[in-house]
Amino acid sequence: MTEHVIGLIWDAWRTRRKGVSAIAQRQQARLADMVAHARANSPYYRELYRGLPDRVESAEQLPVTDKKTLMARFDDWCVDREITLERAKAFVEDPNLIGERFLEKYTLLTTSGTTGTRGVFVLDDRSMAVTSAMAFRMLTTWLGAGDFIRIIAGGGRMAMVMATGGHFASAVAAARLKKSRGRRLEVLSVHMPLRELVTRLNQFRPVLLAPYASMAALLASEQEGGRLHINPVLLALSAEGLPEGEYDRVARAFRAKVGNSYAATECPFFSYSCEHGWLHVNSDWVVFEPVDADHRLVLPGEPAHTVLISNLANRVQPILRYDLGDSVLQQAGPCRCGNPFPSIRVQGRSAEVLTFRTDGGDRVTVAPLAFGTLADRIPGLQMFQILQTSPTSLRVRLQSHGTDLDRVWEAVQAGIGRLLAEHGLDHVALERAAEPPEQSKGGKFRQVIPLPDKTRS
Ligand SMILES: [Zn+2]
Repeated sequence: MTEHVIGLIWDAWRTRRKGVSAIAQRQQARLADMVAHARANSPYYRELYRGLPDRVESAEQLPVTDKKTLMARFDDWCVDREITLERAKAFVEDPNLIGERFLEKYTLLTTSGTTGTRGVFVLDDRSMAVTSAMAFRMLTTWLGAGDFIRIIAGGGRMAMVMATGGHFASAVAAARLKKSRGRRLEVLSVHMPLRELVTRLNQFRPVLLAPYASMAALLASEQEGGRLHINPVLLALSAEGLPEGEYDRVARAFRAKVGNSYAATECPFFSYSCEHGWLHVNSDWVVFEPVDADHRLVLPGEPAHTVLISNLANRVQPILRYDLGDSVLQQAGPCRCGNPFPSIRVQGRSAEVLTFRTDGGDRVTVAPLAFGTLADRIPGLQMFQILQTSPTSLRVRLQSHGTDLDRVWEAVQAGIGRLLAEHGLDHVALERAAEPPEQSKGGKFRQVIPLPDKTRS
């Protein structure tokens, strides 16, 4: 660990201890600094911020950007003139370079682009150091001294179950960790057959397990069934909207702590869960603004259409007031866990909003959250995926814990039917799929898959 990271950990600890006003003060100072830096060094931001006052202290003063806009202006967006999209693409196309340094000094990550433009993100070492410091703050929130002792006693063996074969954030992290941890790290592909995955995990006996949340649910069933028999101290999941009760089931199955983090390639250190199921945002290093579809601030307690983020750590490719495209709900008031950082729940991608027409021709949208809360109330339902197959039909893919898939389907059908009826959409047909939920290219499960834009009526 470098001295720089230790300094950041110290600052992170002190900020948390001092509470709300220290967090706000750091956020404001870091934002002003980042905006000044972007204007001075990024041709894109210089042009975009031309009409703004000299010193900007609130994110609300800034125009909104998004992935599509920034990717279209990639070379101008970056502050290092050596970085070009052409060079970045050449790097991305070489799988041998996953986790290697880009231009000998940066980390390069891509997003899969399942919901549109593929993103190429360049991170500097300061970003990586802040990410490490935030990971440390996360782990010390989740684990007690006894847990750390058990992890050390278990040789610190860590297994990651993830999408391999691309420059995705998790794959790059795995490649970097492999260098320092060697045989103490096992990287398993989400595309591996479940039986093989179970065998490999039984052999490796990880004390730390890092799967996608949906994969953790599958593995918990294997552990409950006695086929998998590992004894991890912590499962660190990445958020992708499991029904709420599933996190407790995973914890019970493994008799382990379960932590959940939600981040984005644009801001790898965004947030981590507390014991009350909220995700606390590291807002000393990121500004987040829950907003409606017109980018107006939404009050805590009310669901937001999307969230705008400003990453206050990455100076090489500034992400400022950037539309992340995820729909979130901010908790009103302080969290019961005592953590002073603001807390959210993620309700799904705004790109997962389903659009229909009523019989009268009115346009109606249904948010993915509506289906998520529905799933929470159906016993036995492990995972589902709703696929819009035409403007008036939905195909539902199911996976249950037990054997009684028919009963689960009846409950799902009744629940979705009621939900549609409430929206005046009785004419929308439901079809039960023979196939289970399917992964997207990046290895994640999308809960709701709307019709592509051009086929929407
Ligand atoms: Zn909390």
